[in-house]
Amino acid sequence: MARTRKTSQKEAVSAEITRTQGLFAAQELLSSVRRRHPHIGQATIYRQLKEMARHGELHNFRHGRATLYSAHANNVVHFICERCGAMQHIKLARADFVGAVEKETGQKACHFQLDVFGTCAKCAKKRWAMPGK
Ligand SMILES: [Zn+2]
Ligand SMILES: [Zn+2]
Repeated sequence: MARTRKTSQKEAVSAEITRTQGLFAAQELLSSVRRRHPHIGQATIYRQLKEMARHGELHNFRHGRATLYSAHANNVVHFICERCGAMQHIKLARADFVGAVEKETGQKACHFQLDVFGTCAKCAKKRWAMPGK
């Protein structure tokens, strides 16, 4: 029956999302779901991701032009070195952007994703070590 098949596909997708830690792209989710359910369609996955995001069950992040999802409202901060282009995840103990946004705009904030640019520790050291400069 078409209906039962749809339901079990939905459950398979949900189960895979529950198993996934951290951020994932729709394409990654599709390939891991297909390991157990080879015939699941791409459209099914995309539709369900949109649906879950709309209901607040999934959180959206951006990576370049791609949308990444997570079941957790983690805050993501990237530090990007302007000199060598290295990118690292950083954890900030105090960064209440969610609170600040709510306070200053009155909008219901959930989580934040932030790109911080600067000079990484390696490049900073290199600069100082350069002879004659
Ligand atoms: Zn969120
Ligand atoms: Zn650097």
